[in-house]
Amino acid sequence: MTTVIDSVPLGVVLDDIVQLHRPRNERGSVPARIPHLSAPPFDRFGIAVATTTGEIFSAGDAGIPFSIQSISKVFTLAMALGVDDRDSLWSRVLREPSGTSFDSLVQLEVEHGIPRNPFINPGALVVTDHLMESFPDSAGHFLRFLAEQVGESTVGVGPFIDEAAAQSELASGNRNLALAHFLKDFGNLRHPAQAVVESYIRQCSVMMTCEQTAKAGLFLARGGRGEAGSVVSKDQAKRICSIMLTCGMYDAAGEFAYRVGLPGKSGVGGGILVIVPGRYSICVWSPRLDSKGNSLAGMAALADLTDRTGWSVF
Ligand code: GLN
Repeated sequence: MTTVIDSVPLGVVLDDIVQLHRPRNERGSVPARIPHLSAPPFDRFGIAVATTTGEIFSAGDAGIPFSIQSISKVFTLAMALGVDDRDSLWSRVLREPSGTSFDSLVQLEVEHGIPRNPFINPGALVVTDHLMESFPDSAGHFLRFLAEQVGESTVGVGPFIDEAAAQSELASGNRNLALAHFLKDFGNLRHPAQAVVESYIRQCSVMMTCEQTAKAGLFLARGGRGEAGSVVSKDQAKRICSIMLTCGMYDAAGEFAYRVGLPGKSGVGGGILVIVPGRYSICVWSPRLDSKGNSLAGMAALADLTDRTGWSVF
């Protein structure tokens, strides 16, 4: 069986997207305080679509591992909710778009240590802290979770933590430490600030290919059902997608909803994970970013793909 868009096979559509959107010259930026993210050449571009019927389509550099960075926040949220039968996480973090940058200190201070949502850095630190209650080695558990979702059916080495990159980010991780200390001061962190930031940064430093990332996100397109059984309930899968739609692209969530019309989550490694509920999990990667920290070419490619295919939740 093959997926066809207006009688064009999806694989051909993806090849065309790569042709059009692979950057031809150096544009955009990489985050100054994460030096290893400048290593991939500017013209890297990959895209993969995993279907709920078990197919996988990909094009360009979809088999090259990249740093998933904040895409990890979707998976850690799902894992935390999966073990949180009393929904207690939601007394520690809200579900509102922040309208500020992902590492803003100002909002956290004004709002008394309750982060706006789980996809900005302070929110993800709270989620990691929550997860550490059940899994002290939350990053190790996170990696096993991803390996299970990805399974055997993609090419390349499985998900792994780039430990050298994590160490270098940690060495310049003052802002995340500041956020963690703020949270601690407001009584919203149970573990030591340093330990939470370390786990969080190791989770961000996971390397996966577009194919693997798309496969790992498939449980969200399948109403919470992962490769080896339920990850979250159907209701929770719906709600995680809602938070992706409203908060997944930081202070560009409105622009992304306007241009793409699907739940998405970006990372400063240049990856974006997008869910078409009931049908597809998509990952696009290109390393240079716009001013909000989202992949420049990735955003343009997803707008183009969804215009061509009509994939949208609207
Ligand atoms: N590791 C990065 C940080 O904490 C992740 C940020 C991101 O991808 N938006 O700053």
